[in-house]
Amino acid sequence: MNEFELIRTFFARQPVSRADVAAGIGDDAALLHPPAGQLLAVTSDLLVSGVHFLPDVEPHSLGRKALAVNLSDLAAMGAEPAWFLLNLALPEVDVQWLERFCGGMFDLARAYNVQLVGGDTSRGPLAIGIEAHGFVPEAMALRRSGAKVGDRIYVTGTLGDAAVALRHRLGKQRLSEDDFAAVVEHLDRPTPRVLEGMSLRGLAHSAIDISDGLVADLGHILEQSQAGACIFLDKIPVSPVCRAHITKFGWEAALAMGDDYELCFTVPPHNIGALEKLQFACGLHCIGEIESEPGLRIVDESGGPYRPAFTGHDHFAKLK
Ligand code: ADP
Ligand code: MG
Repeated sequence: MNEFELIRTFFARQPVSRADVAAGIGDDAALLHPPAGQLLAVTSDLLVSGVHFLPDVEPHSLGRKALAVNLSDLAAMGAEPAWFLLNLALPEVDVQWLERFCGGMFDLARAYNVQLVGGDTSRGPLAIGIEAHGFVPEAMALRRSGAKVGDRIYVTGTLGDAAVALRHRLGKQRLSEDDFAAVVEHLDRPTPRVLEGMSLRGLAHSAIDISDGLVADLGHILEQSQAGACIFLDKIPVSPVCRAHITKFGWEAALAMGDDYELCFTVPPHNIGALEKLQFACGLHCIGEIESEPGLRIVDESGGPYRPAFTGHDHFAKLK
């Protein structure tokens, strides 16, 4: 199968057809109609085999997750996803692998009505770059820089399950079959909080998605908002399996290991009533408050200060 057959077979037959796509896959560039009066939110993520995923990972999950992490970035801006591009380096054309990969990716694409409108394909060590585009009304975008003193800090869902599942998969700790089954969805099939992000427009002062761990990502909000914060360990939402892990190994899984793809955002007190009416199916928890004193203070279960041993994922940490 040559490059063009591959594109025709796997990518040109993508399942979503949007009215705002004048030309999708097949020409030198896609032609798209962004809605009048809205900003285009554009994001990309590169996933490299052996760095971001294990080379033998199940391709259906990989395809789904490659798109999910991009939709999570759009969600963190309050944007509505619309289009994406796929840049793929493949060591060989493995038809079964590609069918599984596309199956996972297009399942999620269908669920959020996002259309694959182009990309590039090359031979090379396995790597997946997705670029996603979405819309957000001007002045409604959720920025990292908008947090204000007195804002309450919230997170969606639960934190730490993906990290606990990954440690099991890497052989660093053993979970029972049932416990692994309860956490592995968060690792392999994270749900981007797209509707939640969009419904925070006009309510949240700032937002970020948690990809590198709560401490690191909340840290970005604090830095860009020139503020500090206090959070409480006993308010951080964790699953029963993660809670048992924390009792044995400490809080790093929920605070610092990342891959959560939940939203962390801040809301001023006058919007809390409206926020609580939203009733997110994934759950929503207030974990602390924005303060004027710079830095992040973490309060442990007994009311004392907590210092994490490890604060977040950083690809170049060793190079500094
Ligand atoms: P060009 O050489 O002009 O860049 P290509 O031959 O690489 O064009 O691609 C032909 C068409 O197929 C283009 O519309 C391109 O966007 C699309 N395409 C190529 N690879 C992918 C891919 N991995 N996913 C989606 N569309 C792709
Ligand atoms: Mg090309």
